[in-house]
Amino acid sequence: MPTSPHLDLGDDLRAFVDASPSPFHAVAELARRLRAAGFTELAEADRWALAPGGEHFVVRHGSLIAFRVGSAPSAEAGLRLVGAHTDSPTFKVRPHSDVRQAGYRLVGVEPYGGGLWHTWLDRELTVAGRVALRGGTTALVRLPGAPLRLPSLAIHLDRSVRDGLTLDPQRELVPVWSNDLNWPDLLEGIAAELGADPLDVVGHDLVLADTQPAARTGADGTWVAAPRLDDLACCHSGLTALLAAPAGRRTQLLVCNDHEEVGSGSMSGARGSFLEDVIGRLVAVTDAGDVQALPRTIARSRLVSADMAHAVHPTRSDRHEPDHRPQLGGGPVLKVNANQAYATDAASSGWFAERAADAGVPVQWFVTRADLPSGSTIGPLTATRLGIPTVDIGAPMLAMHSCRELASARDVPLMVGALTACLAD
Ligand SMILES: [Zn+2]
Repeated sequence: MPTSPHLDLGDDLRAFVDASPSPFHAVAELARRLRAAGFTELAEADRWALAPGGEHFVVRHGSLIAFRVGSAPSAEAGLRLVGAHTDSPTFKVRPHSDVRQAGYRLVGVEPYGGGLWHTWLDRELTVAGRVALRGGTTALVRLPGAPLRLPSLAIHLDRSVRDGLTLDPQRELVPVWSNDLNWPDLLEGIAAELGADPLDVVGHDLVLADTQPAARTGADGTWVAAPRLDDLACCHSGLTALLAAPAGRRTQLLVCNDHEEVGSGSMSGARGSFLEDVIGRLVAVTDAGDVQALPRTIARSRLVSADMAHAVHPTRSDRHEPDHRPQLGGGPVLKVNANQAYATDAASSGWFAERAADAGVPVQWFVTRADLPSGSTIGPLTATRLGIPTVDIGAPMLAMHSCRELASARDVPLMVGALTACLAD
């Protein structure tokens, strides 16, 4: 296998994605890497003692915030923040999930987010996430192997598929677990995996996950084919940048939120209070006694909202605005939308482009065609809620929201370089 900085970082991204089959696993993997780098965990329920240079992280369910405390008062220096999201389109296991029909045991699931659901057919799937156990504890779980599958219907049994495949999620997107009706059901399998009694599993947040490891692909091996690149690739770049950034005057912060794919409206999502709560506590410590410190800090801060971007498609380039066609491997993409689906403006994009140029990183631009609706992301939500000047960017990718997405390893060091420069600003 050839090695180079982009392939090494691409391989590290693949390892990160493979370790993160659910948002809770992504948070655990972020935490593992942060601990290994010397960051210590703070509990929201505890009183925090923070000192300049201190490196900490906080977990709220499927979300994580990590930060390095700056040497200057927050109100004088502002913060430098990078945001990304831990969740991806998938299927969530229902409370009553044991479905029996046609001699099969199936698992009742509910679509989560806006996936390209046909890409989940005929793949080796498992279940991963978090369970609540009797007594008030929770545990991460991931079933080994590939115990679930969504089989296609043979073309001989429905030739109308030639006119286009439509899938009824209630009736057709029900993964099969076993064709032995006496086989233990999914939750019994989960309990066995945890060494627990099935009656002790009192709640669960479990999602389907593709089990095929992320791979190097493409003629030159520089593409990364993987599930959940949107937005684990930006969580990975943001974390790598935070670990690489030298300590400075300003506090540097990474926020990885859950629930972006369903609108971010939750206690751990970007419309919730998590980031506001952490910044408020940080400022209360770094600028003790200054009642105007929080709005002054916000006014001097910058947020880079990092969420994956659409590279131009090789055979459907007509779906891109002709003068804005990001290329794989071409560097971070600045996302602009006149109707504020993205928070990018002149000041924030200019600031980001300058930091990228200083780091030797090229940038690209994306706007949606005028005759197509725009996607959105956590940037405008955080900007709206907190009033932090924000720029929306992302690494270019293909097949966004497919079960198996595609990005370029060449963009990983470019993203890390630009984000590191922003955090170290
Ligand atoms: Zn995304």
